[in-house]
Amino acid sequence: MNPWIVKAVVLAGSVVMIAIRAPHGRRSRRVRVATSHKTPLETGLLVLAWLGFFVPLIWVASPAFSFAEYPLGTGPFVGGVTCLVIGLWLFYRSHADLGTNWSITLEVREQHRLITRGVYQRIRHPMYSALVLYSVGQALVIPNWVAGPSNLIAFAILFALRVGGEERMMVERFGAEYTAYIARTKRLIPGVW
Ligand code: SAH
Repeated sequence: MNPWIVKAVVLAGSVVMIAIRAPHGRRSRRVRVATSHKTPLETGLLVLAWLGFFVPLIWVASPAFSFAEYPLGTGPFVGGVTCLVIGLWLFYRSHADLGTNWSITLEVREQHRLITRGVYQRIRHPMYSALVLYSVGQALVIPNWVAGPSNLIAFAILFALRVGGEERMMVERFGAEYTAYIARTKRLIPGVW
């Protein structure tokens, strides 16, 4: 597998991801925050997520991780690209469905609405499912023991330490409406978990 093709795929995926998120970042700054649950732990998790996102780009642009390189097979490449494409599609859909209710951290906005439709109908965290798919895709296509799994490891830590607090925050804000939503949905995989 030509390493430049893989680098182009990784770069394109990162650009698409930023392009999906950027307008939401700008728009959400205009909607006031009613209550913020941004703790020092949350700040640390966001820094970790950014590091996980940048390490593959350092791999694209420099030989910094060349000591950890291994040969890439066609199977992992095809599987990885599939995960990246589905992950990006779900990332796009979950931003579109959440609209101005989206925040990069744990916050409840003024006039926050609970979204339970679209990709939120069967799972509570489709954006996190998208990020899992995307980072599994990167782990498969990047033939490097450091840069490949960096996003996956960072995101797994973020998810594990955030999801409980996020759901408690939503129960605090939406009460029985969110508890009923929990009862009829799964966290990441429809019908499974
Ligand atoms: N965990 C969700 C959303 C991630 S963005 C997902 O993976 O799709 C994080 C912010 O989204 C939280 O701070 C919360 O304010 C908001 N949020 C999470 N679930 C929501 C829902 N079902 N409806 C509206 N806002 C939600």
